[in-house]
Amino acid sequence: MRRTLFLGLSLTCVASVAIAQDHVAKFVRYSYQNQVSYGVLDGSQIRVVDGDLFGDHRLTERTVPLDAVQLLAPAVPSKVIAIGLNYRSHIGERPVPTYPGMFAKYPTSIVGPGADIVMPPDAQSLHYEGELVLVIGKKAKNVPEAEARDYVFGVTAGNDVSERIWQREDLQWLRAKGSDTFGPIGPVIAAGLDYDDLLVQTRLNGEVRQSERTADLVFDVAAIVSYVSRYITLYPGDLIFTGTPGTTRAMQVGDVVEIELEGVGILRNQVAAAGN
Ligand code: MG
Repeated sequence: MRRTLFLGLSLTCVASVAIAQDHVAKFVRYSYQNQVSYGVLDGSQIRVVDGDLFGDHRLTERTVPLDAVQLLAPAVPSKVIAIGLNYRSHIGERPVPTYPGMFAKYPTSIVGPGADIVMPPDAQSLHYEGELVLVIGKKAKNVPEAEARDYVFGVTAGNDVSERIWQREDLQWLRAKGSDTFGPIGPVIAAGLDYDDLLVQTRLNGEVRQSERTADLVFDVAAIVSYVSRYITLYPGDLIFTGTPGTTRAMQVGDVVEIELEGVGILRNQVAAAGN
């Protein structure tokens, strides 16, 4: 099934390298010597991919050291969909949804590992939300649930940063969920994992605040992709945040928040005041 997924994405050559190692391929996007490229993580090295990972590309023999590059958000989406209330531990006393509740974030909310989460001056209650994020691999419209996993290129860790007061009081969640820097993702896109059973953990200043497996999602990966694609055409590189477990709390300027997704690694960002 994993091999089918890779072949379906026309990534045979990249995938075969990874499959020979541990069945999991880790893709990065990075800046090195003023040039932005995609690559495949190979230990402490990055094998350079020429072209667009989600379009025409070629895995080269060239390598650059991981510690010499700046990692960027691993995808540049045309759209960012998010699912709310998708873990019972987060739903609490509220009714469990009978269908996935969708909302939008903006491509301009997406930032990479190490980037600041910029707190707008009038934000008062800025919360983290550690999440599994799906990265779409091919155009998806009206995809049956049984085929939905084939449309997932891989997964990454995400922080669905949310201003709770705006979320409660604004007409829509655009500002609360879609403001600039409210969508950190990374550090890699991992392909070939069992996306339906990964540990998601959030640490605030080193303290574990959220910890749950994606097996507990109310709507799983296939259900989400199929449902979203009934209404919205998904394109390669598009992102779907799948919901956050447990409870959240407000972050302050200077706080360091880490989202660790099993098989993907640690996404680390610091909260900064606007204008810095
Ligand atoms: Mg969320």
